[in-house]
Amino acid sequence: MTAHEMPVDAPHPWRPARFMVICAHPDDADFGPAATAAGWIDAGSVGWLVCCTSGDQGGEDPERDPFELAAIRESEQRAAAEIIGYAGVSFLNQPDGALANDLPLREILVREIRTFRPDAVLTHDPDVVVYGRGGINHTDHRAAGIAAVDAVYPAARNPMAFPWLARAGLAPQRVRRLYLFWSNAPDVYVDVSATFERRVDALRAHVSQIRDPAGLEARLRASAAEFGARIGTAAAEAFRVAIIDEDEDEGPSEEALSAR
Ligand SMILES: [Zn+2]
Repeated sequence: MTAHEMPVDAPHPWRPARFMVICAHPDDADFGPAATAAGWIDAGSVGWLVCCTSGDQGGEDPERDPFELAAIRESEQRAAAEIIGYAGVSFLNQPDGALANDLPLREILVREIRTFRPDAVLTHDPDVVVYGRGGINHTDHRAAGIAAVDAVYPAARNPMAFPWLARAGLAPQRVRRLYLFWSNAPDVYVDVSATFERRVDALRAHVSQIRDPAGLEARLRASAAEFGARIGTAAAEAFRVAIIDEDEDEGPSEEALSAR
């Protein structure tokens, strides 16, 4: 190893007991933090996936029935989620291409968070309009990301936000950390050497979306290896992390562990 190949960061050590991935479309989670999710699940975490839309505009044929495409994409995402090991998937059936961070979506996400009770939420970095290496971040990705952030803080933890939810028994939930993926400013790198192949398998389940699986796999491998080099491992995924509630011990909370 030469000097310029020396790792500059340590692998990210924290693991939530329960986590929720909130994304815009079926396949985003598998292009995003799937190997991290698989690794945490293998280590004992419980994960849940929320897709705000069912990807009904994810094609190039204006004659195509969007409802039929949505059904195909939901079944592809369910198959991929099974490979990763999520406990379940929610489809919120919002309109693809027209996702908006409005109060109705926030309430739905608060319901999801208060029902599953994650201590970490993983979502799109909503600050990204243009990716660092070029390309525009889809409007739905930005909308899903900021909707998830706004649902986590302050609404999910505030009993006076959507008070009918607390009255109906959905107690406030303090999500302690946000992990933002596809960020232009990542600050933590999770070692995914052991689970990267599961992410590749999960992506292959999105048959309707992937035209060149070999090329895609090569690009993913190169990017995971580049992030891995930062922490001295074969593969890593990168996140911008927001710590909302600090831990004392940098491990899953006793409360979260006992709730499993
Ligand atoms: Zn997407």
